[in-house]
Amino acid sequence: MSKKIEYSLFDDVSGFVDDAAKHLDLHPGLLDQIKQCNSIYKFNFPLRNDDGTYETLTGYRIQHSHHKLPVKGGIRYSEHVDEEEVKGLAALMTYKCALVNVPFGGAKGGVSIDPLKYNEGQMERITRRYTAELIKKKFIGPAIDVPAPDYGTGAREMAWIVDTFEAFNPELINAKGAVTGKPLSQHGIDGRTEATGQGVFFGIREAVSVEDDMQALGLTVGLKGKRIIIQGLGNVGYYSAKYLSEAGAKIVGVAEWNGGIWDESGIDIEALKTYQIENKGFKGFKKGEFIKNSKELLTYPCDILVPAALENQITKENAAQIQAKIIGEAANGPVTNEAEKILLKNGVMVIPDMYLNAGGVTVSYFEWLKNLSRVSFGKLEKRYDMEKYRKLLGTIENATGERFTDDEKDGLIKGASERDLVLSGLEETMVTAYHDMNRTRKEKGIQSLRTAGFILALQRIAISYMDLGIFP
Ligand code: NAD
Repeated sequence: MSKKIEYSLFDDVSGFVDDAAKHLDLHPGLLDQIKQCNSIYKFNFPLRNDDGTYETLTGYRIQHSHHKLPVKGGIRYSEHVDEEEVKGLAALMTYKCALVNVPFGGAKGGVSIDPLKYNEGQMERITRRYTAELIKKKFIGPAIDVPAPDYGTGAREMAWIVDTFEAFNPELINAKGAVTGKPLSQHGIDGRTEATGQGVFFGIREAVSVEDDMQALGLTVGLKGKRIIIQGLGNVGYYSAKYLSEAGAKIVGVAEWNGGIWDESGIDIEALKTYQIENKGFKGFKKGEFIKNSKELLTYPCDILVPAALENQITKENAAQIQAKIIGEAANGPVTNEAEKILLKNGVMVIPDMYLNAGGVTVSYFEWLKNLSRVSFGKLEKRYDMEKYRKLLGTIENATGERFTDDEKDGLIKGASERDLVLSGLEETMVTAYHDMNRTRKEKGIQSLRTAGFILALQRIAISYMDLGIFP
């Protein structure tokens, strides 16, 4: 039986939307328009290998919703990439952007390849050709559709994309804004690499700060001492683990595709990441127990489980065995619709992907704004602010007769760097969206944070159509 018949991320997302729509009075035609993918582009292109052989690769770019433009979403390189997956991921982007108030429609793209099987030269040819295909059909551009990194891609691929796009559009002054997640040298933004993991940290921190919610779960308030299991130590998983452990949580398990590590006394994430890079896995890591079948780690005892790899990981098969009180969906779609119903019945709190991994798109939005304005954040006001605060401190000193220490002065007059501003914007976005979502959950008297998130997103998307008079 094919994967599509067994499981469809798009159907799952549509199911979550339907659950939320029951709480709203939307015109059925409007709901249908919101749920469908607006444009689907699937294409095949040739790759010439180093030995002179050829293979045909399949790429996708799917734009789920044009209610706001440009559309935005990552590019995934994985052998699991197919139309259903990309449709589902594109749809999730729409709801995610609406929930965190980032003014984009949703999109996603991908190439169906195992990136580990290709060398750097092949990856460059694949990425540049993929970009050229998007350019031909106007499926990329700063005002049209702005890709970003996702599973299997990173700053390197984004650099190739922007370079290819600029080569085809030399007259376009905003060409750098055609893709985000670029290296800093290509006008990326300071903080984008770690943004999704940083956002996961802010989101979980907010969730565990609400006293009555923690009481209901039998947990104490705060991150200190919380036992956490992470699945996937890639970009999102690594930075989530790093910031969560720096805040006092204890990472007791890390699962990778080729084995996991379990250590109740706490795992040193920096040491494990370094070991993973050098040895391509955790086998032989000096501390903790190596777990061959890493999927089992998802059901080990912990307070918070953070799936940060791929979709379809917690299903009706393993949901009842989950011991975590909180699941923080750092990956897209790790908990299926059926699994969530089991988890909710067992009193587990699920912090949904559409909220928890929105840090990536939020900071991508800042990068896009920087590219359009052609100036880095803080550049104009930093010196001015420092001078203003220096004068203010001088006035306070004169008025009180007291003197600040040099350290106090340095701390108080320091102007904000691009990184400071990005972090501050990200934190504000994540904090506000969490409490909006949790408030909606309580007001509607529902258990699921995800349903609350979809309710808010649907309301915001619906208004865009209604204000145009397209639907009543
Ligand atoms: P990545 O490629 O950097 O990392 C993924 C990690 O998961 C890799 O280390 C990989 O080996 C591991 N992995 C793969 N299969 C696994 C398995 N079966 N069990 C355990 N580990 C496994 O990708 P990423 O960018 O960190 O993306 C991870 C997830 O986060 C995806 O669902 C992606 O859509 C989502 N996401 C990413 C971003 C971003 O900014 N990168 C933003 C939002 C959402």
